[in-house]
Amino acid sequence: MQRFSDYQRNGCIRWKKFFSVSGRGMSDGNCSELLKMSVCLSLCHNVAVHIMLLYDTESDLFSYVFSLTSQILHSIFFLGEINNPRYTPKHIVSDDEMLKALRDHYPGPFKRCSSQLPKRSPFSCVLDMIVLLTGQQNENQIINRLRQLIKKLGASNDLVSSTVCVSQKEAAEDSVRYYGVSMSTSCRYPGRIIVAACCLSTWDSYVADAVMSYYPSKKKKKSYFDGTIRLPEQVRCQGFSLRRVKQMDPCRSCGNAFGLTTGEKQVWPYGHCAEAESLSNLLKNEKEIRELVQQTSHLSTDENRQKAKNSVMKELRHYLRMVEFKWDSEFYIPRGAAEDQERS
Ligand SMILES: [Zn+2]
Repeated sequence: MQRFSDYQRNGCIRWKKFFSVSGRGMSDGNCSELLKMSVCLSLCHNVAVHIMLLYDTESDLFSYVFSLTSQILHSIFFLGEINNPRYTPKHIVSDDEMLKALRDHYPGPFKRCSSQLPKRSPFSCVLDMIVLLTGQQNENQIINRLRQLIKKLGASNDLVSSTVCVSQKEAAEDSVRYYGVSMSTSCRYPGRIIVAACCLSTWDSYVADAVMSYYPSKKKKKSYFDGTIRLPEQVRCQGFSLRRVKQMDPCRSCGNAFGLTTGEKQVWPYGHCAEAESLSNLLKNEKEIRELVQQTSHLSTDENRQKAKNSVMKELRHYLRMVEFKWDSEFYIPRGAAEDQERS
């Protein structure tokens, strides 16, 4: 097997070539979705390779980036699996040499894309890479890098988020910033599947409870469970458009679910907005803020919560049947770089 450092250097160059080839085919209506997917994959991979070049293969940071890349691959391959028509990894990575190199270094996503669910969208992992590369404190740079990336991909890409959200425990300049992006899938099933997977496997339980109070409905809260939350007043939670240079007020759904103040009337499906991921990251890391979060309804009991979880799981299984995906009930967790390669 090639040494990883050689692979990184060669891979980076080759992916750039691949990107330009795929980019030219974007106008072809029949396979444009596939090409968009490939372009997104190539860009994600370029970001990973650039970051990996900076670190030693033994370091924790290297493992972290390896894990993010593995998640991105798995998540994109999964979306290919449930697409109609179905796209296998071989369709998505059309260059044979690159396909082999990826399979050698990241066998997990290839083996498990047709049986396990991703814990989040591919673009959410790309966001984490950009935050790592830029530094969480550099908010404007992070947002600009995301905007540049999206510009390269073209505005209509289904895999790309339209908003980013920044949360802080208070508006002070030096308080840590936590980011999140909106769900990128405009089609009905992928978006709903990923939101359910985030609720059941990824998000902080307060965020998951708030989303599950409605999911999958856009209009009606569950009659038996209300896990909507009220955040402490000092929390900053600010959305930004990634298509245009402008700030975004929270939508009505985020107002209802997380108690964010807004004059907006627009209702998006619960859990689709960037606020969910950003607030989840804040609450997972800022324990003293988490203790101040309130669930005010008497319906937010453990028993009702379990009933809501069961209902989300039931919906999820229904959507997976609709897209003919045979789930083994596991969410994809990348193994360490060395371990994953050993087992291949
Ligand atoms: Zn929203």
